[in-house]
Amino acid sequence: MKNKRLLIIITIILVTIFIGGSTIFSQPNEADMEEERVSSDMKTLYQPTKKTKVTEASLSAIGDLLIHKEVYNDAKTSSGYNFEPMFQEVSQHLSNSDITFANSESIMGGAEIGVSTYPSFNTPFELGDTLKTNGIDIVSMSNNHTLDRGVPAIENAINQWDFLGIKKVGSYLSPEERDHITTIEKNDITFSFLAYTYGTNGIQTPEGKPYLVNRIDKDLIASDIERASKESDVVVVSLHFGNEYERKPSPEQKELAAFAAAEGADIILGHHPHVLQPPEWIQNKDGSQSLVFYSLGNFLSGQEQKHRRIGGIAGVTVQKIKNEQGTSIKLTKPSFKPTYVAFENDQNFKVLPLKDFNPELFQEVSKHMKASMSDLAVH
Ligand SMILES: [Zn+2]
Repeated sequence: MKNKRLLIIITIILVTIFIGGSTIFSQPNEADMEEERVSSDMKTLYQPTKKTKVTEASLSAIGDLLIHKEVYNDAKTSSGYNFEPMFQEVSQHLSNSDITFANSESIMGGAEIGVSTYPSFNTPFELGDTLKTNGIDIVSMSNNHTLDRGVPAIENAINQWDFLGIKKVGSYLSPEERDHITTIEKNDITFSFLAYTYGTNGIQTPEGKPYLVNRIDKDLIASDIERASKESDVVVVSLHFGNEYERKPSPEQKELAAFAAAEGADIILGHHPHVLQPPEWIQNKDGSQSLVFYSLGNFLSGQEQKHRRIGGIAGVTVQKIKNEQGTSIKLTKPSFKPTYVAFENDQNFKVLPLKDFNPELFQEVSKHMKASMSDLAVH
């Protein structure tokens, strides 16, 4: 009896220890398993839908670089020209985007063929050096002054831009070069650039050399955009158009910008009027939006009138969204930084941020630029 009772007690103790022990030791294991199950559930839940990759690249653009004699005389040194002081106050704003575009209005044929002013411009190479140090990546060479100094100026300019490592569009030295789409890739986003002008001040293109200057021609623009779309994520079209000194886009500008957008232009950079025109979004039929800056004004010139001294730095950020549905592009953070060309007695030319230089004028320009686009950040 005693032995049997002892056996029962021992059995109870052993069973208790076993159950207790197994409870104590199994709890963390179950917890681990639970955690593992949750995380594997999460993987199954999120793996197919959360595979969205977003990259961003920013683009800036400035308007006309129109180097009148007052400007190059002010830049003259004992050994050449120096445009650096003119860009000093805006340098950081030009350099802080991934890609910066400019309109090289007065052809940069270099001093060796003789510098010259309106109506037949030729600009020293040193302007290119300054643009390089200020972060300019690409220039448009297609405008009404492209043919001012003939083929030698075009050849010099193209060779100098190549030497500087600054890309150029709108003027070429061969049909092959013209047909090649110019692209710049930043952060896995490829931008393509195209440029066209309304005319060349009555100067005929040399016989058989249409590639020397891209003229506005809807068929040409449409076929170039189609090819550019295949080679890039974002198509940027530079249009030299509109009426000089008019602060609102003309019906022709609006019609051409809408045409380019419908053909696939994502960003349109306009210039020629020498004054700022309010930018706007263009709603495309496929639901996308294109951004058009109708006129970016003069960035640096010798023109004296108030509104012809105002230019600025346009900005936009491109988002590339990749997921199972494919790849799409979104334009965000449109911005504009107005600038002012300050000088006195045709000396000490300086491009200044307008906000610091003249807050009252800045307010007026800000209102003007936001007229058709309330989400434009003017700063
Ligand atoms: Zn022009």
